Amino acid sequence: MAVREILTSEHPALRHKAKRIKKIDASLQKLIDDMIETMEDAPGQGLAAPQIGIALRVIVVDALPGEDDADTEKPVRLQLVNPEIVEQREEQFGEEGCLSIPGYVGNVRRAKFITVRALNRKGKEVRFKASHNLARVLQHEIDHLDGILYTDRIEKPEDLFRLNDKGERIPVFQAAAANAA
Ligand code: ZN
Repeated sequence: MAVREILTSEHPALRHKAKRIKKIDASLQKLIDDMIETMEDAPGQGLAAPQIGIALRVIVVDALPGEDDADTEKPVRLQLVNPEIVEQREEQFGEEGCLSIPGYVGNVRRAKFITVRALNRKGKEVRFKASHNLARVLQHEIDHLDGILYTDRIEKPEDLFRLNDKGERIPVFQAAAANAA
């Protein structure tokens, strides 16, 4: 296993549409293992293969489901090949960050409940429901497979924040106006 370099937002590889995987083989297993190690090292709640420069439809997730008491929740770990959202309903609006956009967070509208179809790392078809935080993370990672970043989904400039060295949220829109003054 190896920690891979995570590409940041100006890298063109993050904007490509990733290819579906036709064959589950040892090199794919190794890619998934490297993605898990890279996500854990960062650390992050999820990682998509394009973020390490691989244009294949693979994501890994390690995220709290976000619907029960936070103290009793356990993270859900997923490794998904060719994931697709086959159903979605209701909305949620909340904060996201991205390992490819360090130092920023933003508020984004997502579906609250989704059903995902994918292959697991052994090539077996899986279908499952997710909601709240886990649904948000899955939508964010699946977006990466289509070259979409969460910042593309920000509806108003005021919803994007820069994190200062204390971790406080500084509105980018106002900061830009202040710098211009
Ligand atoms: Zn991301």
